[in-house]
Amino acid sequence: MSAPFDCIVIGAGHNGLICALELARGGRRVLVVESAAHVGGAAITRSFAPGFKVSACAHLLHALPQAVLQDYALESHGLKFAARAMPTHAISATGTALRIGTQELCGAGVTPADKAQFPDFRQRLMRYAGVFHSVLGMTPPRLSLTRWSERFELLRLGLRIRLLGKKQMRELLRIGGMNAYDLLDDNFEGDMLKGALAFDATLGAEYGPRSPGTVLTWLYRLAGEHASGTQGLAQPAGGMGAFSDALATACKKAGVEIRLGAPVQRILVANDHASGVRLVSGEEIAATTIISSADLRSTFFKLLGTEHLDTGFVRRVDHFRSRGLVAKLHLALRAQPTFKGVDEAALRGRLLISPSMDYLELAFNPSKYREVPSHPAMEVTLPSLNDNTLAPPGQHVLSALVQFVPYDLGPNPAAARAALLENVLATLEQHAPGLRELIVATELLTPFDLEQEFGLAGGHWHQGALSFDQFFVNRPVPQSQQYQSPLPGLFMCGAVCHPGGSVMGFAGRNAARAVLAQGV
Ligand SMILES: Cc1cc2nc3c(=O)[nH]c(=O)nc-3n(C[C@H](O)[C@H](O)[C@H](O)COP(=O)(O)OP(=O)(O)OC[C@H]3O[C@@H](n4cnc5c(N)ncnc54)[C@H](O)[C@@H]3O)c2cc1C
Repeated sequence: MSAPFDCIVIGAGHNGLICALELARGGRRVLVVESAAHVGGAAITRSFAPGFKVSACAHLLHALPQAVLQDYALESHGLKFAARAMPTHAISATGTALRIGTQELCGAGVTPADKAQFPDFRQRLMRYAGVFHSVLGMTPPRLSLTRWSERFELLRLGLRIRLLGKKQMRELLRIGGMNAYDLLDDNFEGDMLKGALAFDATLGAEYGPRSPGTVLTWLYRLAGEHASGTQGLAQPAGGMGAFSDALATACKKAGVEIRLGAPVQRILVANDHASGVRLVSGEEIAATTIISSADLRSTFFKLLGTEHLDTGFVRRVDHFRSRGLVAKLHLALRAQPTFKGVDEAALRGRLLISPSMDYLELAFNPSKYREVPSHPAMEVTLPSLNDNTLAPPGQHVLSALVQFVPYDLGPNPAAARAALLENVLATLEQHAPGLRELIVATELLTPFDLEQEFGLAGGHWHQGALSFDQFFVNRPVPQSQQYQSPLPGLFMCGAVCHPGGSVMGFAGRNAARAVLAQGV
């Protein structure tokens, strides 16, 4: 055994890095071991064709808390923004574009009733999201509530809900368990508006708009938006990898050692306590506290081993649901494409192809039967318009999130993949005639590919479904809430923990605070 570290963090994704940084600030000697040759996990930039670079998984910051940006001084550690407060437009194949702002709607096809209703509806949801925002940054209390700090946290949460006022509190409790489809249908008329809002309610989750719990997943997304403040949707200059690089720089300045190309093979145990890690190279490194940002199954089944766990816990981990439905498409384009009804300013923002809630539900349905959508729903960006380092002069990159693509592509995955690519390109071509002619190179990453390449369990955005039974005090599974595990000295800090994923950093930050609170 070698190396004098108090804590070893497994994985240099953004949550692992933030956890390491907080621990170092808390006076711990910290080592981060990462299997890849670079930091960032699912928040990286990489080349996918000669001369073309793209954010390989996460491509927009929509939930980065101001607190994370400022507390870790990321801008003075090299983070720059190519775009902030990027606009969102719902687009259609007929050339209608609808701008969905934070306060107002504009564009053809907005009915007077929707225009009048939107600001009030949005304000109401953002108030609820404010309550959720406070939940994101807290360690979920144990239901036994034996500690005063936990009782106090829960009381504070209750008070925040109470402060909404009787009417709003009742409304939050009413809609909290609803599906997005019914809520939007109750409030709006326009199909394009409802389709676009329902897209956000389901993005990254494993649900269609009619699935129960989609108001919850929407509030979760809005809570991230609440946390990000006026920054809104943002694109880091140089792609998402620049965000992770800034975090790594902050870590190193705080004294954290980061070892890349150092996959962990085993978490070591001595006297029923985590005692270090063994790398695939055979090197063993001792530490009293191990914090894993890998997903649940990898941490407990591959790295720890079921011999250290009771059968009830093993069963719970085994039953934890993690089936991603988001695929990623990257196109290298020889010239800038034109989208019908979309001006240059809108093209620099986020375009949503989800022209109605029925379109979205129909795109979701095949995934239940391991089939690909014939008309996929998409979030499309052209990051090179805001950042000319991503493509050769005059050429461009298209980066799109494609909903809903199953992890398991059925009996003939190659044929399903080819059909999916064809359906995606045909859908894009309807909105951007002539796009196919511009394509120099294509990369399509299905949830299966994302698992293979980034280690995200099931290719899932949050390393596991965000649903009532896997949320807050239940996340990820009993006996491993509060970032702990059944094995003393072993903690977790990745997206699989509360409050889940997105490039947000709360999981890593909360985990470090839970470790430090134990005085280890
Ligand atoms: C297709 C897609 C698009 C997305 N788009 C967005 C978006 O636009 N905006 C957004 O905010 N979020 C987005 N997300 C979600 C976001 O990318 C993730 O939730 C987030 O990056 C997870 O961060 P993490 O640090 O918890 O985990 P990860 O980034 O997965 O990091 C875990 C790290 O642990 C390492 N590791 C695992 N096992 C070992 C081992 N044995 N030894 C050493 N290292 C190990 C891995 O290599 C990895 O680097 C998207 C996700 C997907 C899949």
